[in-house]
Amino acid sequence: MLAEVNPLPTETLPVGDADRRVLAEPVRALVDLPPFASSAMDGFAVRAADTPGTLPLAGSSAAGSPLDMPLPAGRAAPISTGAVVPEGADAVVPVEHAKLSGGAVEVEGVVSGQHVRPQGGDARAGDLVADAGLRLGPWTVAAAAAVGVAVVRVARRPRVSVLVTGSELRDPGTPLRPGEIYDSNSRLLAALLADAGADVSVLGAVADDEQSTRDALERGLQADVLVTSGGVSVGEHDLVRGALASLGAEELFWRVAVKPGKPASFGVRGSTLIFGLPGNPVSALVGFELFVRPAVLALQGATRPGPSWLPGRLGAPVRRDRDRDQLVRARRRTGDDAVFLDPVGGQESHMIVRAAGADALVLVERGEGEQPPGSAVRYLAPT
Ligand code: AMP
Ligand code: MG
Repeated sequence: MLAEVNPLPTETLPVGDADRRVLAEPVRALVDLPPFASSAMDGFAVRAADTPGTLPLAGSSAAGSPLDMPLPAGRAAPISTGAVVPEGADAVVPVEHAKLSGGAVEVEGVVSGQHVRPQGGDARAGDLVADAGLRLGPWTVAAAAAVGVAVVRVARRPRVSVLVTGSELRDPGTPLRPGEIYDSNSRLLAALLADAGADVSVLGAVADDEQSTRDALERGLQADVLVTSGGVSVGEHDLVRGALASLGAEELFWRVAVKPGKPASFGVRGSTLIFGLPGNPVSALVGFELFVRPAVLALQGATRPGPSWLPGRLGAPVRRDRDRDQLVRARRRTGDDAVFLDPVGGQESHMIVRAAGADALVLVERGEGEQPPGSAVRYLAPT
């Protein structure tokens, strides 16, 4: 699937607008950080060799207002946190270790370098701050700004269409008629896609008839990615795969050895990626995490598109499935030396409310018998 992904074009954004975007070019420091030797404390800048002692005061150095002369020998300059340590000074005595009296200050002894943040101690001009392919977050956005980077080059957002299928689907807020259910997948997929960095268009539910399904799919195929839900199974009302084929899409896989989520399909038309997720909400969720999220991140050029498995231990036994890997909904519990994963009650693929009480998808690999409690497993967690 990832072999079908061609990274999207890039754009330039103010760094403050680039949270959760994937870097297309490395971010390098434009200045040293700190840009100058600065004080780590409020106190007095001194020559360490003059301490301990009582030192007459020199002019002061405040954050943003440096002392405009070198510190004369035998003097102490009042200094605030983040202010330039004046030339000549090599240490700072914190206010807590100093006593002012008249025009002089009695300071305790300090060693050279004490309470001074050296210039470039965090980063040197030219240092790599964040590499291409990294997805920015609040920490990396702040780091880029701190080293003077105003704009960054990132992948443009993938445009993703969401199309849910099913004549039974209604929007919440309208009463249900017999046989109808509320459409949760439009909201599920829109929220998951936004989280993965996509620019999402929700096309609205389409009834299970061939013409409307084809028309809606054709609209969805204009995007970089089309994600559908429902209609990819083997029932006579499952029209999505046939309609996609009639629209010129090439199916690359259908059905995966995963529970829930078996009927998932993947294909392409031109450069559009097409994911046919099953209609059951938990199946759609699992299919999203295994296939769609990694593809959407890879489209943005992410070096590590995932899935991002984490290590844990099973909190209770789980019966293995002979043929399919299971993604078990579980709650995380922090133990002494591991995260334990307690499966929630209600593991059927329609049970989105039970799934919503979980905060982990635990991989229980196919096999015979039981996966025992305490055994090492991998899991996915909501981002
Ligand atoms: P399907 O994959 O179309 O056979 O649908 C499987 C099950 O998921 C059926 O019980 C559908 O009613 C249900 N379902 C399909 N689409 C949605 C949706 N958008 N929201 C909630 N449930 C759905
Ligand atoms: Mg259906």
